[in-house]
Amino acid sequence: MKRIIPLLLALSCMFALCACSPVAQQSESFIMDTIVTQTVYASDNSVVRQNNQILRDIENEMSKTIPTSDIGRMNAQNVQDVEISDATAQVLQACIEQAKVTGGTFDPALGGVVAAWGFGTDNARVPGEEELEGLLAHTDYNAISVSANENGQSVANAGGTQVDLGGAVKGYALDCLAQNLADNDISSAILSLGGSIYAVGTKPDGSAYKIGIRDPFGGENDYMAKLTLDGKFVSTSGTYERGFTQGGKYYFHILDPETGHPAESGLAAVTVICTSGILSDIYSTALFVMGAERGVAFAQEQGVDALFLTDDKRVITTDGFAEKYGLTVTNKDYHE
Ligand code: AMP
Ligand code: MG
Repeated sequence: MKRIIPLLLALSCMFALCACSPVAQQSESFIMDTIVTQTVYASDNSVVRQNNQILRDIENEMSKTIPTSDIGRMNAQNVQDVEISDATAQVLQACIEQAKVTGGTFDPALGGVVAAWGFGTDNARVPGEEELEGLLAHTDYNAISVSANENGQSVANAGGTQVDLGGAVKGYALDCLAQNLADNDISSAILSLGGSIYAVGTKPDGSAYKIGIRDPFGGENDYMAKLTLDGKFVSTSGTYERGFTQGGKYYFHILDPETGHPAESGLAAVTVICTSGILSDIYSTALFVMGAERGVAFAQEQGVDALFLTDDKRVITTDGFAEKYGLTVTNKDYHE
């Protein structure tokens, strides 16, 4: 009996340790029109499941292709004030503010023009110049207003403009997931949502989370560099993400709001790293439109870190980028 008690004690301690020590909870799902992968170190998969639900809720509120979403209802014709969730109001307000900050290179009012190109749909095509001019005339982020009604409910009016938050929502969603990780005391995780990634803490062996920067001229699994990430958000906007070829020319989904055409700024991809998911997402789109020279100056002014890959495979970064993130260029075709 004397021997059995310590044995039982040892077994119950082992059991308690196994039940509580975090293990890799992994999930891959398809939400918000993109592949979502999560590795979260936790004792069970409840946080991963909560995260998937958070993403589904955001999609149902902010997707422009769901007619009943806040944005779907705002974009419906002949509609005036539309009740929206506080979350949608927050994202809309951030987008309108950043449209001003970025000199209109990020424009949440481009919905009509984006829809005309039909990227990622069966109706992808090059719209005519007259059609684009007509659509650009209804592209005014100043026409979008967000306020509260007498019940304190958030309301929005798009003033006839088609709203598209596709360049910001994934980053916002990562902000929400990062908050959920913190609320659940998760100290190690990496989450990837389309072109946006968030990592916090280190892997169980103590090493940092490393992410790859996609080679915009390579295939899906080709990377041109790697870097380490802890507690920050990374977003990449690249020509390869969504596009089509017509008449031998490749057209992609990042549009210059001045012309309504894919932004020809000499870039193939831009990666932005900062402490806000929504800003990393908005700025990756905006910096792509700005091009490397204007983009570097803007990023430094805003205090965000950015890496530009040009059409001729040059790597241009904001000051101190390589040291801060341990950037290693692994594809030697790329040069400074
Ligand atoms: P991202 O991949 O984050 O750069 O976002 C690109 C998506 O944002 C596109 O698929 C469009 O829905 C939308 N978009 C394209 N060009 C712009 C722009 N200049 N400003 C804001 N949104 C844009
Ligand atoms: Mg973006």
